[in-house]
Amino acid sequence: MAAPRKIALFRLPPLPTIGEVIKLYNLRAEKQLSQNFLLDMRLTDKIVRQAGSLRDAHVCEVGPGPGGLTRSILNAGAADLLVVEKDNRFIPGLNLLSEAAPGKLRVVHGDILTYRMDRGFPKVITKAWEDDPPDLHIIGNLPFSVSTPLIIKWLENISNRTGAFVYGRTRLTLTFQKEVAERLTASTASRQRSRLSIMAQYLCTVKSCFTIPGRAFIPKPEVDVGVVHFTPLAQPQIKQPFKLVEKVVRNVFQFRRKHCRKGIEMLFPETQRLELAEVMMHEADVDPTLRPTELSIPDIRALADAYSRLCSENQGLLTYDFREELRLKHLNRRSGSSTQQPV
Ligand code: SAM
Repeated sequence: MAAPRKIALFRLPPLPTIGEVIKLYNLRAEKQLSQNFLLDMRLTDKIVRQAGSLRDAHVCEVGPGPGGLTRSILNAGAADLLVVEKDNRFIPGLNLLSEAAPGKLRVVHGDILTYRMDRGFPKVITKAWEDDPPDLHIIGNLPFSVSTPLIIKWLENISNRTGAFVYGRTRLTLTFQKEVAERLTASTASRQRSRLSIMAQYLCTVKSCFTIPGRAFIPKPEVDVGVVHFTPLAQPQIKQPFKLVEKVVRNVFQFRRKHCRKGIEMLFPETQRLELAEVMMHEADVDPTLRPTELSIPDIRALADAYSRLCSENQGLLTYDFREELRLKHLNRRSGSSTQQPV
């Protein structure tokens, strides 16, 4: 019997270094686009390894810039890499890379905040939500300026199974400012516990991978950078709509150092505030004297469930915003004082 043939791993042909590409195309980093480049291939390889095996995988890379991470993804054996880059100065260099990896690299000049990821990949890769994750990964050395809005948007997509998550539980390997990475992975009662910790962890297994010192980037950012890996959970820990959970969590965390009851009260109009907050805390069976940072995900789940029940019994409660009530009060006071002219 013939010995099984070894399948050769794809390797990119010799190319100019990323430093040479930057010089060749005169790619000065633009501050407004939070451009900090990684030139060290050992580091880009290390980021890519956090995603797991990319052999024959589909990958979307966010903000490829001069293409260091892009090369590592291709060398890891990805079969189909779609890169989305906003700055057109990088497109010629990326097209050159695409020629060196025929049929493997698709270059999109666009904005990741609006790019329709649900149309970017073949439907056949789709897996049922409860099944293993699909062979699709999102990887990016994210621009700091968009990293927080982007992860919130993707978390909402996970909750609604839209965007990149129409294919199933697509995994993400992303960089953040170290402080944001710490908030994403912070456990109950830790100093960094925040709104972002709850929103990420009720929907995903979130793993902090490693820290990259700021000096590894060109130009050097003010801060160090954390690499974080997300796998969407087959069963989210809270089963309420994303916007409802977000509203409860936002209110709870607005008085970070006070008892959690204080933030909960602000979910209700002034006239019913004390009474309905009492009902909500009682139904959820959560200690009202806990600080927001001390609340576990099951506590937040109980609070979100209790709030949802109250919303179904009290019309208009879900859309109530105490800031709007305050604003109207302020306006009324001002118009009242301006019309009360002395006679
Ligand atoms: N991946 C490269 C690396 O590791 O060297 C570049 C990283 S740099 C921190 C961020 C990249 O994202 C830049 O190339 C920037 O032009 C791009 N970018 C910024 N905002 C973007 C957006 N909204 N959509 C797509 N790309 C964006």
